This record gives sequence, C-alpha cells and structure tokens, in this order.
Amino acid sequence: MAVMLTCPSCGNQITQITRSPQVLVCPACNTTSFLQNGRLEDVGKSAILTDIPSIFQINRTYRHKDWKFSPVGRVRYDYGDGWWDEWYVRGENGKESWVSVDEGEIAIEVLVQEGLNVPPFEKLSVGGVLMINRQRMTIIEKNRCTMIGAQGELPFKVIPNETYDYVDLLGPKRSSFTIEYQAGGVECYKGVWVDPFEIAEA
Ligand SMILES: [Zn+2]
Repeated sequence: MAVMLTCPSCGNQITQITRSPQVLVCPACNTTSFLQNGRLEDVGKSAILTDIPSIFQINRTYRHKDWKFSPVGRVRYDYGDGWWDEWYVRGENGKESWVSVDEGEIAIEVLVQEGLNVPPFEKLSVGGVLMINRQRMTIIEKNRCTMIGAQGELPFKVIPNETYDYVDLLGPKRSSFTIEYQAGGVECYKGVWVDPFEIAEA
C-alpha cells in the first residue's frame, strides 16, 4: 500500500516509503517539502548533493553482516573542514536507523528514546569523559555544523543552512554516541563504528 504524494513544485509523483516522514525532497526537481496532513508543502529548493563517489544510493539494498538495509534519505552537514552524510535507512523489519559516512568512516546509529541527562554543550570539552548507560565514553569531537543539503525522505524537519552544536563520543568496542544540541532540544544517538569493508550491496 504505497502512498503516492505529488510534488507541489513540478507535479512529480513521489512514493512515500517510511511511516511518518516529515520532509520529502523531490528526486525530479529537488524541491524540499514538509508533509502536512497528507499533502506536501513547498519550503524551497535543496542543494543538489554531488557525489564523489558515494558508497550508498537511495532505495538500493545493502548489508552489514546479517543486517540488510535500504537508504531512503540523507542529510549533509558541513563542519568547517569538510562534510559528512547522515543516511536515513530502513531495515528489512521496517525499523529505521542512521548510517553516518564521514570520509570513509562509517557509524550505524539509532535515536535514543529514553530520556538521557546530558550536560550542556558549554560544559563539555574534547578528551572529557561521560558515563553513558554505565559506560565510560570519551569526547572525541566538539563542533558546530550546518545543514547544506538533503535528499529523499526524512523523519524530521530540515532547514537548509540551519546550524547546531554536537559532540561525538567513543566508548568500548568502538561504540559511538552523538549528542545534538538542536533549537528544539537535545537529541542523542547511540551506535557503533563499523568497518566500511564489511558493508556491501545486497
Ligand atoms: Zn518536483
């Protein structure tokens, strides 16, 4: 039961893949739209994401070990010295997660649902240690990023050129933890760094 949506800018038919996307970027004209009451509302053009060359393509299927997933959207963030992509992916079981790709470094992360009490951004510094779920995690990056492009379908509203602060932490067994200090509140993602050579097209 695929849901078809009409691009408000060019009339292209877009198939909705995930259950509750908030943003869709038209593959034909790159118009970014918010999904409101089953209709798309044009909020402007998204930058075209150039690939040099990208490890993933939207709607193809990949595997990491026995986990199969398909990218449905991505957001690109500039952090000053370069950019990284956050791929919004859907597993075979319909569960969504994120695959972050930064110059060949890959982390698979999920949004942490439980309320976590993390310190304010100003209180944190690189090299500092936080206890997250009873694990010692070290802050390896503290920075601000700017959203510079989007593609496909996304579960939150992305606004071009919007900035936010974030810290990346590294824990035992290459576990990762990211804290994003967004205007709407703090969001945390937990996951693991994986070997890019363990990811292949399925
Ligand atoms: Zn369009």
